[in-house]
Amino acid sequence: MKKQDRLVRGIIGDKARAFVLRTTDVVNEAQQRHQTFPVATAALGRVLTATLVLGAMLKGDESVTVQVRGDGIIQGIVAVADPNGHVRGYVGNPHVHLPLTENNKLAVGEAVGQGLLFVIRDLELRESYQGSVPLQTGEIGDDFAYYFAHSEQTPSVVSLGVLVNPDYSVQAAGGLVIQLLPGGQADERFIQELERVAAKLPPMSQVFADGMDPGELLECYFGPLGVKIISEMPVSYSCDCSKERFQRGLVALGPEELADLISEGEEVETVCRFCGERYHFPLGELQALLDELSTAKGGT
Ligand SMILES: [Zn+2]
Repeated sequence: MKKQDRLVRGIIGDKARAFVLRTTDVVNEAQQRHQTFPVATAALGRVLTATLVLGAMLKGDESVTVQVRGDGIIQGIVAVADPNGHVRGYVGNPHVHLPLTENNKLAVGEAVGQGLLFVIRDLELRESYQGSVPLQTGEIGDDFAYYFAHSEQTPSVVSLGVLVNPDYSVQAAGGLVIQLLPGGQADERFIQELERVAAKLPPMSQVFADGMDPGELLECYFGPLGVKIISEMPVSYSCDCSKERFQRGLVALGPEELADLISEGEEVETVCRFCGERYHFPLGELQALLDELSTAKGGT
């Protein structure tokens, strides 16, 4: 059976919670939609994977936006996820080429550069929450671990990985986040044992390239500490843009701006930054929007 992208949530020894996810198809779709080169694919893929985990911590109509604002050649990364396993994102510059690092790895940290990691939660009925921390290495996994520890006071193990094929497609991607439960009775021995196992984890890209499932990974490495699988859901690359949304954007320009566009004889084509979908507005539709605006204004 073909392996599918999934996010598995589990509890380890009643003292820590774990999110393990395979995101190979998600990152492959991002690579195709944005035509990213390998360094950008790895950077974006890691951010998409971590953002899915942040999304899984929410509920209802809530959503989370992650912004990596670094001064590197990639010119920033943005991702948005919801609690239902949907994520979308983009990088400022998808066509990044950098030599491999000394360890023969994609130079994600160098491409991202120095700057800040922002996490913005759009919470349904409560106030939105925003936290930010300085980027530690730009390797993304380290940066999220630092974010959890310093912005949310939750010490966490974060491992993210993307393996890119020579033809630029994605061979494997996935991640793991483990956090001590608040109010849990995590004793020193348990924490030491958890750290010992975490330190021995293979790279996530390798785990999923080898065909392991998220649930298997949890059992295989953390089983001796006592693993309970709580839930499992599919994850996917998904954008909720629509022509109507871009139409509202055009209306928001106001009647003068719209009239200018029409008088210049310019048809408008809008492109969604998140998914690359193009929406075309011929002159006739622009004129109809302008007429509607004028009527609405004159009517009252
Ligand atoms: Zn879109």
